[in-house]
Amino acid sequence: MQTPIPDYLAEVLDKLRDDVSGATADYIPELANANPDQFALAITTATGGTYSAGDTNAEFSIQSISKPFAYAAAIMDRGLDRVIESIGVEPSGEAFNELSLDPETNRPKNPMINAGAIAAHGLLLGDKADPEERVARVLELFSRLAGRQLRIDDKVFQSELETADHNLAMAHMLKKYGILNDDPHEVVAGYTRQCSILVTVEDLSIMAATLANGGVQPRTRERILDADTARQVMSVMAVAGMYDGAGDWLTRVGIPAKSGVAGGLVGVLPDQVGIGAFSPRLDKHGNSQRARRAFEQLSKDMGMHLFAPSNGRLDVVDVKLETLKETFSLQGNVQFTAAAELLDLMEKSTAQNAVLLDVSGVYSFTDVARRMALEGLRRLRLDKRHVLLHDPWQVLADPHLGDGLYPENV
Ligand code: GLU
Repeated sequence: MQTPIPDYLAEVLDKLRDDVSGATADYIPELANANPDQFALAITTATGGTYSAGDTNAEFSIQSISKPFAYAAAIMDRGLDRVIESIGVEPSGEAFNELSLDPETNRPKNPMINAGAIAAHGLLLGDKADPEERVARVLELFSRLAGRQLRIDDKVFQSELETADHNLAMAHMLKKYGILNDDPHEVVAGYTRQCSILVTVEDLSIMAATLANGGVQPRTRERILDADTARQVMSVMAVAGMYDGAGDWLTRVGIPAKSGVAGGLVGVLPDQVGIGAFSPRLDKHGNSQRARRAFEQLSKDMGMHLFAPSNGRLDVVDVKLETLKETFSLQGNVQFTAAAELLDLMEKSTAQNAVLLDVSGVYSFTDVARRMALEGLRRLRLDKRHVLLHDPWQVLADPHLGDGLYPENV
């Protein structure tokens, strides 16, 4: 059998493909040339499984999605206290390019708006650090987070730098107020190169899954950020990631997120998943129209919300192979991550005759995890396996496998 998760993601894309509203960003001329029909979606679990659909090989510039990760770098380089002296953590309630300096401290309100992100870039490595080394610092960090060597799109960089008057004006203001100590032109050039790093949706999902996993990259198992830094970054994404729509987004969708003007969108659910989406047409807030809707759909279908209940006990999946029968056992409160892992293990199943799903150690299933487990059993049955279920507490409500068939209870 094959895990159904990529099929589900492809369905989400198909459902939203007709939405051609919005337009590509035009204030950066190179972005206006992007193929607007591209559309891709990827999920990486905190245990390192990556699932994707659509234009998964399409590379696009990371743009503002670089901000949370560069903020993480600034915290690691300078310490949180020093970073907080220069950049606040309050929602601005304003658009991405708003100056938004705190009237008392002159700090930018948060690191997700451009003023705060430019200030964060200027903090990297240390005062008067070499501008090239600051760019190398973020490129190296983002590459480790994504698990592959990333590169900068020089055309996007040049194109944005030519029209960067707004960001330059902000950088000069930051210099005047002592938030920026270095040459504003150099810092804006470095920040603009940071925004021009090319990524795919899978890269974004893995970078976010590293945050979800408390700073440990779930595929390479390398600790890249310390847990406190990951927590700080996720908190700020929740507070200010979606600019002027942050409150509406957090209550309705509930996935701390960050968008970029090239059409990317990244989201994170602590302990669970990192999500990446991409489609170039933007809505009036500057967020990708289709990527935003894909997140809304995922949150709705999968009950993925930061404040959804049942995020208590850890879920565990285990497998035991005997010659003819393979037993998959689940424990705890089963959510998307364990269900995805279960499907991966089922995909690798080598049992000849029978598979047993043992849910005697399960307290509860989220709706999506229940549907995923049953879909796995349904597919194994189509592969001509005899499907058995051990569910003494009846936690798997109505376990039908299609065609009116049910697994044999044991
Ligand atoms: N590089 C873009 C800028 O500074 C990023 C904006 C965004 O992605 O929201 O204007």
